Amino acid sequence: MHTRLDFVRDWAPNACMSEGNDLEKWRAILLAERTALRESSATTADSRKPVTLDQQSVGRLSRMGALQIQAMAKAEEERRTRRLRLISAALSRLDEGEYGYCMTCGFDIPNKRLSVDAAVAQCVDCAK
Ligand SMILES: [Zn+2]
Repeated sequence: MHTRLDFVRDWAPNACMSEGNDLEKWRAILLAERTALRESSATTADSRKPVTLDQQSVGRLSRMGALQIQAMAKAEEERRTRRLRLISAALSRLDEGEYGYCMTCGFDIPNKRLSVDAAVAQCVDCAK
């Protein structure tokens, strides 16, 4: 299992090297994550297809197992979809010059918090 930091290192190595609040750095990180999410959506598409097992050759238990795997794959996809929505909202804020400010109180979101999650829309206090 990759952590978000590993992921940023893999996908946007240059972004990690620059210091300071460079908006293009956050954009690169967000775009890289979006690309990765879309790719894993595409590569796992098969696992979300309806389960069509031959009842003759597979038992009841394998069918249940296959359905469980499919349900997990669908849940994963929903998680990716939610994440993509957050990322595209963050990219819109970048375009509108609102990125890095808390959507609730308007104060700056510290770089440290953005480093943990570049798509975050609120400061720590407002996110509680
Ligand atoms: Zn706030």
